[in-house]
Amino acid sequence: MQPVPIFLMFLDGVGLGSPDPGINPLAAANLPHLTALLEGRRLLLGLEPFDGALASFRSVDATLGVEGLPESATGQSTLLTGMNVPRIIGTHFGPKPDPRIRAILQDNDLIRRLVEAGFRCRLLNAYPASYFDAIRSGRRLHSAIPLAFDLAGIPLATEEDLIRGDAISADFTGRGWRNRLRYNNIPVLTPNQAGRRMAELALQDDFTVFDYWPTDYAGHFQEMRGAVRLLEMLDRVLGGMIAAMTGTDLTVVITSDHGNIEDLSVRGHTRNPVPAIILGPPAVRKIIAQRMRDLTGFAPAVLELFQIPAASGDQEEGAHAD
Ligand SMILES: [Zn+2]
Repeated sequence: MQPVPIFLMFLDGVGLGSPDPGINPLAAANLPHLTALLEGRRLLLGLEPFDGALASFRSVDATLGVEGLPESATGQSTLLTGMNVPRIIGTHFGPKPDPRIRAILQDNDLIRRLVEAGFRCRLLNAYPASYFDAIRSGRRLHSAIPLAFDLAGIPLATEEDLIRGDAISADFTGRGWRNRLRYNNIPVLTPNQAGRRMAELALQDDFTVFDYWPTDYAGHFQEMRGAVRLLEMLDRVLGGMIAAMTGTDLTVVITSDHGNIEDLSVRGHTRNPVPAIILGPPAVRKIIAQRMRDLTGFAPAVLELFQIPAASGDQEEGAHAD
């Protein structure tokens, strides 16, 4: 199979929860684009594996056989390495990678392996100058997703990339850059435009990621109206993305690292499964869906689609022999 562009639309802290609209904003929100993808089904606990006209759905285990509540650093680094990171270090850990997790990412980084095989990878998020300052000074650590790009030698997108339209704001629209960060020169997109832009950018490269963390914040904040508003905006982003990818060979994987927003009755994360919603050519969807039983399945599916051997060590040594 010829490699096709793959876009990982990562949503932090989105699990499959109860149908009670009093605690689960996914049950309360009006999400027409998502519901259409799932052909009338709602994204709730117990949703059966599904392969529809436009999308496939699988329920994905995020607990990885480890006690306690799943965390972002271990969950995201599992997605981006295929290693069971919480089992290796003996615990779920987060939100930011510690030296143990960093070392596992460094040795097994999906992004680095794709780059070394000649594929173009990009993280769509734009970061303000204050973020880079905080990283350089050690006041702040990368979360696992930007760290995986950094370790692969791919520079993170900046304010200039955002202004040119080559990157996306963490809130999709760019309003946060204007209102909170006081950047007056940032173009403001509608959610639909942001979704279209993401699909267009993802079509320019081989493997693209967008890291959307406000869903996890909304889960910790436990406020239903805000959570519903956020999910309804996300649905409009999805609408733009679907419109722009129609007729292309783009594959989009929407998934998460752990549950949170689907249960506003608790402040912390949950042990619920997370969704994998896969859009794109059915043959590609099938390969990804088969592997995504838990968070370890994503990276091997991507390596398989790009025809990169699963085990790294031996081949890499052989490649350097000449
Ligand atoms: Zn969290």
